[in-house]
Amino acid sequence: QWKQIPLAPPDSIFHLTVAYKADPSLQKINVGVGAYRDEDNKPWVLPVVKKATGILLNDPTLDHEYLSVTGLPEFGSAAAKLILGSNSHALAESRVVSVQTISGTGANHLGALFLSRFYQWNGPPVVGLSNPTWSNHDAIFKNVGITPVDYPYYNPATIGLDYNGFLAALRNAVPRSVFLLHACAHNPTGVDPTKKQWTAIADVMLEKGHYAFFDCAYQGFASGDLDQDAFAVRYFVERKVPLLICQSFSKNAGLYGERIGALHVVSSTAEEGARVDSQLSVLQRSEIGNPPSHGARLVSLILNDPDLFEEWNRDIKTMAQRIIAMRQELYHLLTKELKTPGSWEHIINQIGMFSFTGINPSQCQVLLAKAHIYLPTNGRISMAGLNSKNIRYFAESLDKAVRG
Ligand code: PMP
Repeated sequence: QWKQIPLAPPDSIFHLTVAYKADPSLQKINVGVGAYRDEDNKPWVLPVVKKATGILLNDPTLDHEYLSVTGLPEFGSAAAKLILGSNSHALAESRVVSVQTISGTGANHLGALFLSRFYQWNGPPVVGLSNPTWSNHDAIFKNVGITPVDYPYYNPATIGLDYNGFLAALRNAVPRSVFLLHACAHNPTGVDPTKKQWTAIADVMLEKGHYAFFDCAYQGFASGDLDQDAFAVRYFVERKVPLLICQSFSKNAGLYGERIGALHVVSSTAEEGARVDSQLSVLQRSEIGNPPSHGARLVSLILNDPDLFEEWNRDIKTMAQRIIAMRQELYHLLTKELKTPGSWEHIINQIGMFSFTGINPSQCQVLLAKAHIYLPTNGRISMAGLNSKNIRYFAESLDKAVRG
């Protein structure tokens, strides 16, 4: 039956984790995985999530009925408020349609599927993706018949943003093009536009009538402040750039396995929103039926209870501050102690869980072969894989790899 099927290559990041687990070395470090780890290199169940789980367990009114097709309403409205802000005009004018999704991946898929069916394409369906981007974006858009096209984003020479290249791509694209933008903590580079740069990006998007497909997988993880990390999205909504937002609670709530996220489509009027809502329901029904309830209940409790919400903010700060501390420590070790050749400013300038080190594929290979340090060949490291016990070994190994 399936003789003609070629063997697909393994996912490179998951493949790295398998190899890491099989490595008996005591010094091994996994900086490939995109999940938070605590000081002891362990997954961290947020204390607020433990508390909310206890509340749910003791709630005698909970049952296992289906949620509605678009999900738990009190989750959707609170999630929209979290990303758009409690004083959002779009929310006050009931112009936002929120659908609970299978985390950020599901939100990206549903958003892409919706565009593939209903967007008024100016030519063949194409989406602009930053070069580089989260590896799954490409497949998600191709799956629904939208062709991904790279736009310049990362400049290897500066290990920073190719701001002029990015703006030129926006200017040169056909009017009403769709561009995927990372809301904050760009994956994989950790390079975000500044507020001033976002302003100019919004200007061009408006001028050209482009559509912004925001992917927001790290709200709170970039700065430790949920509002600050929502800046770009809120600013674009205020400026009335047409857009949708894919939201994930995997990282900021540590709910990787619960698969909880949302797709928010901001429309021009409430009436337009009602039509969008009806079509998203139809799509969602045939894709997943009804979204799962547990993660939605947990996040809804946390977002809607002022005490739990405050506690969650503290937990987010704990994670973000540990990551920021690791950035500073690594920078200190490389520049002050080891005097590693090259500039390492980007380690402290980049944002979020990931850092693009700027090392080349053969240096990555040396780290793997000689130091048991697991990272993808693009040189991206997850700061969460570092802690006060392994960071010196990591810095020394990196130093050796760079010196060759
Ligand atoms: N978008 C980006 C940019 C991501 O980095 C991730 C997580 N790696 C996701 C979306 C989706 O993650 P999840 O499906 O776990 O929410």
